[in-house]
Amino acid sequence: MNRRTFARRALAALGALQLGRPVVAQAARGTASGLVPAPAGPLGELPELAAQDLRVDGERLIRTLEALHAFGRTPEGGISRVAFSDADRQARAYVAGLLEEAGFESHVDLASNLVASKAGSEDLNPLMMGSHLDSVPEGGNFDGQVGSMGAVEVVRTLADAGHTTRHPLEVVFFVNEEAGKTGSRALSGEVERFELALMTPSGLTIGEGIRANGGDPDRLSEARIEAGRVAAFLELHVEQGGVLDRGGIDIGVVEGIVGIRRWEITVEGFANHAGTTPMPDRRDALVAAARLVDAVNRVALEMEGTHVATVGRIQAEPGAPNVIPGRVTASLEIRDLAMEKIDRVFEAISARADDIAADLGVTIGFEPFYLSRAAPTDPRIRDMVAAAAADLELDALRMPSGAGHDAQSIAQFAPIGMIFVPSVDGISHSPREYSRPGQIAAGADVLLGTLLRLDREWD
Ligand SMILES: [Zn+2]
Repeated sequence: MNRRTFARRALAALGALQLGRPVVAQAARGTASGLVPAPAGPLGELPELAAQDLRVDGERLIRTLEALHAFGRTPEGGISRVAFSDADRQARAYVAGLLEEAGFESHVDLASNLVASKAGSEDLNPLMMGSHLDSVPEGGNFDGQVGSMGAVEVVRTLADAGHTTRHPLEVVFFVNEEAGKTGSRALSGEVERFELALMTPSGLTIGEGIRANGGDPDRLSEARIEAGRVAAFLELHVEQGGVLDRGGIDIGVVEGIVGIRRWEITVEGFANHAGTTPMPDRRDALVAAARLVDAVNRVALEMEGTHVATVGRIQAEPGAPNVIPGRVTASLEIRDLAMEKIDRVFEAISARADDIAADLGVTIGFEPFYLSRAAPTDPRIRDMVAAAAADLELDALRMPSGAGHDAQSIAQFAPIGMIFVPSVDGISHSPREYSRPGQIAAGADVLLGTLLRLDREWD
């Protein structure tokens, strides 16, 4: 059996065992460096070779994920742990306890993010890891949870090995990711005053929730982190789509979080009697809109790349069975890693819209109304993630993230890296969300491997 087969069987065994022995850790250590642990160095730190060969305890990681599941578990097997709820507060307390056991000091920042930190052996900017503990109502136990407990497992593994990183480490659990990415956006200074008054599913406004958590909404602007203050940020997350699972691939090397542009489409035709207007004389706005919806889909399919384009909302006026629709409003959304690519897809759609308009005697206008800039991951960190996966004999795929993440906000002031693990059947924001234990453990190992590379190679 070659190394790849061996590693794969080890992963499968962990998946089958659920709470079995940490097969990944032992198998990988055995194949990579022999079975004899390296002696401790003169300062009580493990030599570099041993640090490279560290593996997380997959069994312990799954156990903590299960324990976390208790806070907000629903009868369907998912979780309802909306930000600022009792379940959210209990989960934060549980996680803070685990990190304090691993030698970290935890505190709540002004935005009420839970932050745990530990000094490094050198005077450097910190390496930051983290994700979110909150869920959507009736969500799953993996979105945010895998990255949170993955980061906890990584620092526990380092603590067990007595390995002190050169950089200080910070583990951050961002508050209210699911209803506005409040915690991470506070760190990049993006939270607007009016957001604090927004009601959340917990029954508290965002401002009240921050205060209840121990933050200070009146001083939110002071939570901002200046560019250059954080050496790098890493987030492990479930893919929330089906690309990795369908491809049988263990690790997604995230190239970035896609940018989004949205337009309001207005098609102006002529409303007229549906019984007395012969077919050739019509200027039917809905027929034009229907062709445009099809064109959006075709253009996106025909162009090379991983962009996506969607018409998600449409309304015809006046909206009566016996009136030819005179006006249609609809939305157009395009996402891609490169904002210029979004523009190119839009230009192609716009050209088709001109043809359709001329053909049917209507006008079609596009009014931009929303923009979210793409947040590319740092290319050097991408390579480190890929190298860490390769060390573990894991298949990896470079891919964009179509969903938003806390890392997107952190990218405003620090280089970021993201690691995806497969979501079975691509299901997320649902109690049926699931990722396999072996793949979660593999993702945490890649997080650990990437962190150690960053710690060695970056200042
Ligand atoms: Zn998430």
